[in-house]
Amino acid sequence: MIQTKAFAAYNATTPLAPYNFERRDVGVDDVQIEILYCGVCHSDLHQARNEWGGSMYPMVPGHEIVGKVVAIGSNVTTHTINDYVGVGVMVDSCKSCKHCEQSLEQYCVEGMTGTYNAIERDGKTIAQGGYSTQIVVHQRYVLKVASTLPLAAVAPLLCAGITTYSPLMYAGVKAGMKVGIVGLGGLGHMAVKFAVSFGAEVTVLSTSPSKEEDAKRLGASKFLLTTDAAAMKAHNSYFDVILDAISAKHNYTTYLDLLGLDGKLLVVGLPTDVPTVSPFSIIKNRRSIIGSMIGGMKETQEMLDYCAEKNIVSDVEVIPIQQINEAYERMLKGDVKYRFVIDLASLK
Ligand code: NAP
Ligand code: ZN
Ligand code: ZN
Repeated sequence: MIQTKAFAAYNATTPLAPYNFERRDVGVDDVQIEILYCGVCHSDLHQARNEWGGSMYPMVPGHEIVGKVVAIGSNVTTHTINDYVGVGVMVDSCKSCKHCEQSLEQYCVEGMTGTYNAIERDGKTIAQGGYSTQIVVHQRYVLKVASTLPLAAVAPLLCAGITTYSPLMYAGVKAGMKVGIVGLGGLGHMAVKFAVSFGAEVTVLSTSPSKEEDAKRLGASKFLLTTDAAAMKAHNSYFDVILDAISAKHNYTTYLDLLGLDGKLLVVGLPTDVPTVSPFSIIKNRRSIIGSMIGGMKETQEMLDYCAEKNIVSDVEVIPIQQINEAYERMLKGDVKYRFVIDLASLK
């Protein structure tokens, strides 16, 4: 077994604290990774605080992992020692169902295995995430990362990046389309970067007036304050696509009304409250609501390669792990531009 240092949530209410545990030995198909950086996703906070229910403790969160390969199993062909690699939101799936065969492992018929807060496929081990010094993962769920990009800023691509890239691709976002991004946080700021890079006219819809300048810097051509009723009304039926990355209670109808003919509301935000939807707002303009969960392994690699080619990374604030509890509080206040990333050197 491999001794691993980490920070864990011990229950839903106390601060995360140091935790030592053992990872499995490297199996024939496994890659052992020394973790260098791990992004802090709002899903980490939702689960550490049991906001979705069913949380398992002690829980080591973290699914935006970048590191260096330190050992490989005898069957591993895709990665080699000293490679820079990434691990995202899943570490396993059945590998043989119709969805896994299409590399839509996130929709595995048997259910994917999450990177943490999940039972591994041996039926007993609790998967533990990236707020830790190392991780052992089956080669299929390990991605190649370009060493030409700053690695701390690459880490958030493993969740915030793929979670926004995948639905924007699915919706066929391209030049000439009007795209709205709601919620300028970790996911939202990546969505803006991708939609801009695809050539769309991008508008940021936000509750925070202070983010207008950043929205423009990120490439958005417009900024809509969602509390400004007149400005919202003026954009009725305006957008082709709106991506909703809001982490807290809200109303889908507000955003559906902004969609034109065949407009699509891409839902990725996962608040605990059930949002309100007016059927009148769906039938008008033949609008649809489309949910999306991360992305499959093939598409995640494509996204990472696309980012390397286009020089797209996350805007990050790098922190030592000892500041994780303060980082959660600041994330809740929207006080981060736009993703905290833990430097795991702080755990050594
Ligand atoms: P984040 O960085 O905290 O950003 C969330 C943003 O939502 C905030 O910056 C804020 O933007 C907006 N917001 C917050 N409270 C709001 C409220 N009461 N009303 C309206 N807007 C509000 O979070 P994140 O890491 O980007 O994650 C966003 C959500 O996506 C989370 O629920 C997370 O669990 C989920 N998620 C889903 C997937 C998936 O596969 N579908 C993957 C990862 C994460 P403004 O200041 O601009 O208003
Ligand atoms: Zn995430
Ligand atoms: Zn499967």
